[in-house]
Amino acid sequence: METPAPVNRKITYRMYPTPRQEALLVEWKGLHQRLYNAGLEERVKAYRLCRVSVSFADQCKSVTEIRAGMPEYAALNAQSLQVTLKRLDLAFAHFFRRVREGAASPGFPRFKSFDRYPGWGYKTYGDGWKLEGQTADAKSGMRHGFLKLSGIGRIKLRGQARTPGQPKTCEILHKQGRWYASVTVACQPHRQRGTQGAAFDWGVETLATLALADGTYDEIPNPRTGKPDADRKAELQKELAAKQRRSRNRQKTRRKLARHCARTAHRRKDFLHQESARLVKRSALLVTEKLTVKNMTAAPAPKPDPDQPGHFLPNGAAAKAGLNREILDTAPATFLNLLARKAEEAAVPYVEVPTRNVKPSQSCSGCGHQRKKPLSERMHHCPHCQLKLSRDRNAARCLLNWVLFGTVYDPHSGLERAEVRSASGDAPVQESPAITHGV
Ligand SMILES: [Zn+2]
Repeated sequence: METPAPVNRKITYRMYPTPRQEALLVEWKGLHQRLYNAGLEERVKAYRLCRVSVSFADQCKSVTEIRAGMPEYAALNAQSLQVTLKRLDLAFAHFFRRVREGAASPGFPRFKSFDRYPGWGYKTYGDGWKLEGQTADAKSGMRHGFLKLSGIGRIKLRGQARTPGQPKTCEILHKQGRWYASVTVACQPHRQRGTQGAAFDWGVETLATLALADGTYDEIPNPRTGKPDADRKAELQKELAAKQRRSRNRQKTRRKLARHCARTAHRRKDFLHQESARLVKRSALLVTEKLTVKNMTAAPAPKPDPDQPGHFLPNGAAAKAGLNREILDTAPATFLNLLARKAEEAAVPYVEVPTRNVKPSQSCSGCGHQRKKPLSERMHHCPHCQLKLSRDRNAARCLLNWVLFGTVYDPHSGLERAEVRSASGDAPVQESPAITHGV
């Protein structure tokens, strides 16, 4: 087996600064925030007054002047100041891209308050920051230790990366009164893979329905974080609304709400990590339909496309908030991203089937017969070969067959075939699969 290319992984460590260190961190965050806002102001003014656009390179040059003229900035790492200006540059780049794409609200870069400002970053390992005193072996990974920031000192860390590697960049984050160091590490992942081929159909009731190459089926349930967490969130939001503005109590409730949301998000992500890891561990081939999750969770919730489960019509005006929450819970985009990345680490082929051509939900996995089914029809019952199967299982089986055999049915199974025709009614459907047998 060939060794996969090194991948970048992000590890987030919690930082435990001393009171003196914390005071410095707060001061530095303020300096970066003011630099960001000043850079934004400069760009806006230059354009308003003289129709001149200030570039990232221009602003980087002035960093030297700022450091010479303002001693408080001289204490900060020069590259980290550039990183802050780069973030501003990216904010503008995204804004212009959204304008080009004709977005309704392109979102001009905003001035940021201290509370809204996330933190700052370092570009090169060893330039202004260093990790120290960590264990770094294959068994316990990169664990705990210290982050040495020049100008502040050694800050205690807690956290662990499963796969040790070469540290590349570092971001200092300030969230809900806590400090975090998010370190990007280039590492050589090692991940076990299995022997089974599996295709899955993504759904709302279950996260995914799997069709396995040995003819069996399996299901991945939804993460169980939905309703109780949503209820608690609503409760806290109500509580917050009832509190007097600018009161200490309001602040307390707001913090509670933020923690609750962070915890829910973390639990969900953890679940998706575990399920995707488990799937890769037992698979030699993973097949999925190409998902279009864009705008899927935007309010108002979109309506499912009756022709393609897992796909949604862009403008579901009267859709229910309940469905929106379910979609957020299953977090399909996150799941598929994690799965694709883990599959790559384990060198497991990961195939996305073009649903438009293959139509897994309208085809029979036994004989290839095509029939339009409304989304409400949960059972697949083929009038041609009498195959009876749950809708999701049939769709998953079609996907797997298509990758293994080039057709939605297994041509070797000896069943009588329906004449397979495309939607237009003429040419037989015969798509060449992305990969063939022998996986
Ligand atoms: Zn059939």
